Amino acid sequence: MCQIVEKKIVKDSTHIHSNNSVIMSDENDNQTDVHYNNGDNNDNKSEYSVQIVWTNVFIMGSLHTAALLGYYHLVIGTAKGYTSVYFFLVGILSSFGILAGAHRLWSHRSYKAKWQLRLLLAVLQTLALQNDIYDWSRDHRVHHRYSETDADPHNAKRGFFFAHMGWLLCKKHPEVIRKGKLVDMSDIWADPIVRFQKKYYYPLIAIIWLLIPVSIPVYYFGESWYISILLNCYRYIVSLQNTWLVNSLAHMRGYKPYDKHINPRENHTVAYLSLGEGYHNYHHTFPWDYSASEYGWKDNFNPATAFIDFFAWIGWAYDRKVPPKTIIDARINRTGNMADKYHQMTRFYTLIDFVSGLVFITWPLWLSFLLNYIFFQ
Ligand SMILES: [Zn+2]
Ligand SMILES: [Zn+2]
Repeated sequence: MCQIVEKKIVKDSTHIHSNNSVIMSDENDNQTDVHYNNGDNNDNKSEYSVQIVWTNVFIMGSLHTAALLGYYHLVIGTAKGYTSVYFFLVGILSSFGILAGAHRLWSHRSYKAKWQLRLLLAVLQTLALQNDIYDWSRDHRVHHRYSETDADPHNAKRGFFFAHMGWLLCKKHPEVIRKGKLVDMSDIWADPIVRFQKKYYYPLIAIIWLLIPVSIPVYYFGESWYISILLNCYRYIVSLQNTWLVNSLAHMRGYKPYDKHINPRENHTVAYLSLGEGYHNYHHTFPWDYSASEYGWKDNFNPATAFIDFFAWIGWAYDRKVPPKTIIDARINRTGNMADKYHQMTRFYTLIDFVSGLVFITWPLWLSFLLNYIFFQ
């Protein structure tokens, strides 16, 4: 039975705190959070030196090499057509586990989900292999609360590469660990699905990240194990790289129409590649908006919001939080960069946005077909 659940307009920011004391940022939090670098941080900075974790460098290097090799097989046409479309879809599905699950549901509590949806999201989040939900959410809460300081796990002030993937290749800054322990995670720990996933994370990734996705093309499309394993690495690395762009590019390039005092920006390229997470100046200003964007999926490219809205339609998601337009406009007038004030939304703009988004997210498919046609036909 289908049930349409009304979106919840959140007018009182104190409500967010009562609901979720840990999270971050109403407007005031954001304003204080951005200016950090207090003496405490500076003291630690002088003691800190980067320690590379060579095991992680080796693992990441190997996975990227396997991904490139997998893509090579797509280009030269030794992988089957069904397999290439299948792994593209697996990559998209895994991204929803991160975006609609670990990010918008567990980290930000921007909507509520019945156990059926939480279970599905936990499976998809495991398929994405970006740490378990608990660790992912803790790092993300610390990122919002201490953006661009030593306590930010992927502090963009340390450069593009560090914010993008370098932070996973070296030991965490002591401030990240210290502040991470202070974050209240009790609401996330209260979820039995999160606890189950954390307890059995390694066997779960062996089954959900590796065994099932790799076996399906072998048994159903007659693909070889070798190519199937390589293409599983390829779909994994593509979605990792797309997610990492939110931490790197969307903290460095783009517009600041909502808050010019913070680093995160509106970056449409990132929004396209990350399925709707590039509206990052808005997201750091209103992190509890379930759409992570001022607009829904009908107005700009935001498949993650469409995903949540679909499950709200069948009754598995509810209490989707959105700020009232008057609060957003007041915030734009107060802290937004007027020179960056974006265009008016029109049907034409929406159409261009949708087409651009589809071209961007499908690049692994059309580029491999194109390269195959040019060089191997
Ligand atoms: Zn951010
Ligand atoms: Zn966030």
